[in-house]
Amino acid sequence: MTFDPNSEDSPLSAAISQRDVHVLDMVRAALRKKDVLLAYQPVVQGADTKRIAFYEGLIRVLDETGRIIPAKEFIETIEAREEGRLIDCLAVELGVESLVKEPRLRLSINMSPRSIGHPQWETALERGLLSDPTIGERLIIEITESSALLMPDLVSDFMMRMQRRGVSFALDDFGAGYTAFRHFKDFYFDLVKIDTSFARNIDVDSDNQVLMQALVSIAQQFDMFTVAEGIERPQEAEYLREIGIDCLQGYLFGVPSVSKPWEKDASAERRALLR
Ligand code: C2E
Ligand code: MG
Ligand code: MG
Repeated sequence: MTFDPNSEDSPLSAAISQRDVHVLDMVRAALRKKDVLLAYQPVVQGADTKRIAFYEGLIRVLDETGRIIPAKEFIETIEAREEGRLIDCLAVELGVESLVKEPRLRLSINMSPRSIGHPQWETALERGLLSDPTIGERLIIEITESSALLMPDLVSDFMMRMQRRGVSFALDDFGAGYTAFRHFKDFYFDLVKIDTSFARNIDVDSDNQVLMQALVSIAQQFDMFTVAEGIERPQEAEYLREIGIDCLQGYLFGVPSVSKPWEKDASAERRALLR
């Protein structure tokens, strides 16, 4: 008997779908209980890493034991399903809630282009934009390069509509998949976030040095602001600062946190004033 790992009823595909079923159940239960939250990670300025340019809001769900589950554990499974749309709605609602509460905040949220045109998601965004006239200019929407290229016309039309309302757009995970440069002429992304893999050991990895410089020069040619993702070591940050990256993001500057980091900063400022 031969074993075809791609066959529908192979042990491998059974194991994968078993995992998907579990993930779907967990997300559905979290949605029912509204156990969904954003974790916030700082994106700092390259030239002065003590200054925060904006925060990225990353979606989290709580599992049945109350553990915080990061997006990478479930987003792929739900992305093409209705649950993916509901998660994107909550990301907008939670993001807008934070923007309304903290007028100094600039925040990015992630979305799937599949949410464009989804009535509930469009309503959530519209309601958010109307809730305060400054929301649009403080909101950044991140779309991964691979998903933007799946539906270029839909995405570029949506971006034009939203950019008129002051919203900025970031091209996420730039360089991670196959990169089709011709689309840069059609899309007007304000920022590019260069995929984590290119920053890894960049101070010593000569391949990454060449690739990063090429990606940065393309971004600059198209007047896009650059963010390097996944910075974990000071040497990586120093190298990137020297080559003129605008912003840096990664565990070195702060892990994603479900307690709002700017609230901690504000209470530290208040404590310092009282001393
Ligand atoms: P992303 O937008 O590229 O987010 C960066 C991911 O890298 C996050 O994982 C973050 O926790 C992780 N990260 C941050 N700094 C470091 C670092 O220094 N080293 C390493 N190794 N990792 C780092 P997370 O939160 O699990 O999110 C995974 C992906 O899920 C995101 O990638 C984004 O594409 C997607 N996602 C997150 N929230 C949403 C959402 O609300 N809607 C949709 N559609 N997708 C989302
Ligand atoms: Mg992102
Ligand atoms: Mg990314």
